[in-house]
Amino acid sequence: METLYDAVIIGAGLAGISAAEELIEAKKRVLLIDKGRSVGGRLATRRIGSGKADHGAQFFTVRSERLQEKVDEWLEKGWVKKWFGEDHPRYMAIEGMNHLAKQLSKGMDIKLNTQVTALESIEEGWLIQPIGIKAKAVILTAPAPQSADLLKNSELENLQGFKRLDDIKFHTCLVLLAEMKHSPKWNETGFLKENLAGGVDRMVNHMTKGMSDKPILTVYMTAEWSNQHFNEDDEEIVEQIIKKTESSIDRADIQSVQLKRWKYSEAKHLYRQPFLTIGDDDSLFVSGDAFLFPDDQGGSRVESAFLSGKAAGEKIKQSQKAE
Ligand SMILES: Cc1cc2nc3c(=O)[nH]c(=O)nc-3n(C[C@H](O)[C@H](O)[C@H](O)COP(=O)(O)OP(=O)(O)OC[C@H]3O[C@@H](n4cnc5c(N)ncnc54)[C@H](O)[C@@H]3O)c2cc1C
Repeated sequence: METLYDAVIIGAGLAGISAAEELIEAKKRVLLIDKGRSVGGRLATRRIGSGKADHGAQFFTVRSERLQEKVDEWLEKGWVKKWFGEDHPRYMAIEGMNHLAKQLSKGMDIKLNTQVTALESIEEGWLIQPIGIKAKAVILTAPAPQSADLLKNSELENLQGFKRLDDIKFHTCLVLLAEMKHSPKWNETGFLKENLAGGVDRMVNHMTKGMSDKPILTVYMTAEWSNQHFNEDDEEIVEQIIKKTESSIDRADIQSVQLKRWKYSEAKHLYRQPFLTIGDDDSLFVSGDAFLFPDDQGGSRVESAFLSGKAAGEKIKQSQKAE
């Protein structure tokens, strides 16, 4: 017999994985779908030679009890550790952020390399295209503008809630990854945020950070600079970034460079509810890092993705219990 999932979650980043965890705990039948080759989304780690570097989120902070409980488990399992900072410690994933996502999603039913292109309303709930899988409920966890595009493609933009989703815009982020011959000695943490040239937001040396055998550096450009230069050629962007970092990176010591373009990096506009309901029958939800509890003072980040996924998962648990 054809499977009818209790929930299909589109996007296996942290929001999707957290939503799945919540539903699996309640014995729901859940499928995660991601267009990428791996889970994790913006929890992204790239291997370069014998080294590696996080080129999405570098670290996360914890303000909520809910995430702190999880982080305490992750600390015990040896997946994360405190990187730096006392009052609000920055936690890093010991083997890289993507490895953390892989650990968290182990054992889950996941379909990778599969881009969902449309949702069709059917009697049982939703038909997910192009794969033709059926689900009673769906959670979209792609960056909000991509979820909006998916709903437009599905001709669902007249549903209640769509307009609010469509109002959420994201910044871009340009990230340079540089493989070095030697490790620059910036400081004890390998995290540089002060006295950088205009346009450079922060820099990380992953060897000093303690997750790479080779010195791989990442240079994160500011949202303003990234938005301005996003459509230029790779070569042009790389040259401008290298010029801006000359006081901290010796050009002659660079072995290779790569550029990562994040079209959706962080939300410009936040939605101050932990998830959004689309339509009026409690079967279609949008979740992700742009959705925040009203009392959350932070921005879109690892923690907001985690909390939003949990909240959307809980909502489906409750509405299916009431059936
Ligand atoms: C450069 C950069 C630096 C960052 N630094 C930090 C930091 O230091 N600290 C911090 O807390 N946060 C940081 N963040 C933010 C943090 O990474 C995100 O808030 C968080 O990882 C978002 O998780 P998510 O699950 O909401 O979305 P994502 O991780 O984006 O997951 C969404 C998933 O949906 C998939 N998807 C999209 N469309 C489809 C489709 N149609 N079909 C199937 N799959 C689809 C994508 O492939 C992706 O895997 C950073 C982000 C970036 C880009």
